[in-house]
Amino acid sequence: MAIHHLESVFFREKVAEALEDQTLRGALQNATGLFRQRRLAATASLSDWEKLRDQARAIKAETLTHLDHYLPEFVAKAESNGIKVHWARDHQEACQVISQLVSEKQARRIVKSKSMTTEEIGLNHVLETDGAEPIETDLGEWIIQLAGETPSHIIVPAIHKTKAQIADLFVDQLSIEPTQDAEELTKAARRILRHHFAQADMGISGVNFAIAETGSILILENEGNARMSTSLPKVHLAVMGLEKILPRLADLEVFLRLLPRSGTGQHLTSYQSILSGPKRNPDQEGPEELHLLILDNGRSAILAEEITRQSLACIRCGACLNACPVYQQIGGHAYGSVYPGPIGAIITPQLAGLSETKNLPYASSLCGACRDVCPVKIDIPEILLHLRAKSVEAHENGKEAKGFRMWAWINRSRFRFVWAHRLARLGGRIFMKNGQPPQWLQRRAPVLGAWAKHRQVPTLAKRSFREIWKKELSRKQP
Ligand code: SF4
Repeated sequence: MAIHHLESVFFREKVAEALEDQTLRGALQNATGLFRQRRLAATASLSDWEKLRDQARAIKAETLTHLDHYLPEFVAKAESNGIKVHWARDHQEACQVISQLVSEKQARRIVKSKSMTTEEIGLNHVLETDGAEPIETDLGEWIIQLAGETPSHIIVPAIHKTKAQIADLFVDQLSIEPTQDAEELTKAARRILRHHFAQADMGISGVNFAIAETGSILILENEGNARMSTSLPKVHLAVMGLEKILPRLADLEVFLRLLPRSGTGQHLTSYQSILSGPKRNPDQEGPEELHLLILDNGRSAILAEEITRQSLACIRCGACLNACPVYQQIGGHAYGSVYPGPIGAIITPQLAGLSETKNLPYASSLCGACRDVCPVKIDIPEILLHLRAKSVEAHENGKEAKGFRMWAWINRSRFRFVWAHRLARLGGRIFMKNGQPPQWLQRRAPVLGAWAKHRQVPTLAKRSFREIWKKELSRKQP
């Protein structure tokens, strides 16, 4: 398993649970609707939006095709800047490297800024097992940590929670006076988090982009917590997937215009920190040591195939989640992975393998809304179909594959086709009651039972078109 806390195997059960939860669905509708509106307004303010998307796609394609050149270039520059670079082939190796570093530095209090990559490797769990105290400092992530949950959106981790639920959580966990005032709740969070920043031995962050030309990393955020996490503690560790590289500093201009507009509908994120090494003299701000862990964890395999390679162009803006009609109904937890929504439906099976995630490529109506909003033009429906084909190949003796083989066998012969329809019509007349198949058939064919639960099964016409044509219509032809 390459992804921590993977529960995609329970996708169907989790979907059923989510669809029953009206509070969750209300919160999702409000939040995703708001983000979609903001995104539309922000993208309309740029006349060259489509050109920017093309440029971003071209830059990412060039980088991923030549990662064997850009990654070593980045590492050489980063090391010459004083950054200590570590490598990890998988999530276990990543956690070992980080555990060792935390132990060497005797770090007990650790402040973290938002990082999907550390969620992917389950870092908090490992740090807690080692006796350290990791504190999430992004407000949404902190709320999720207090609630003992996992994020349900890649940029808005607590999107599934209402204000009232957060207020109750703060009263329970922080013993504050009951209030539903958002400003008061935020002030309480800030007071406590500031204390953690001041006490921290180490800061851990993610990375939005890594620039090969300069050996720098860029971190984007809106709350200032990433800047505090990366500058106040003596040691800063950044964790990034190997696909985060951009060739040149000038490339940032394209992505800094695309990412915030796509994600939150902002023209710019509030804080943009470019870090090019630890502080060089004691009077400067910043950490004394800057470590960078570069994670593979299945990415090299994704890179190897041309069709899947585009998945690694993702800049984690979250726009495809907000646009997806499936995500809008079921939210992030139903996907059973730290990566939910359309991007999760393609990334999770590629990182973790299809055996436990084979439902995810089907969590889509293939409407293409994700492809239309993606700032780097990832063709998510194309990859979903590719993964579905792989899943069918891998399960060629499964019930679905057998069913389709039978369907193909029937349809290859006119004789079988006609008789199958006659039998189906007869069966329908005898067994169907009010558009519902009999219970014994539903038990033997659970897929039919699940389908019929909320629908009427259409009954076949008394006579097929062929029969009507043969007996009546053909005679009317001149
Ligand atoms: S796939 Fe595209 S839209 Fe979805 S998170 Fe990644 S960059 Fe954003």
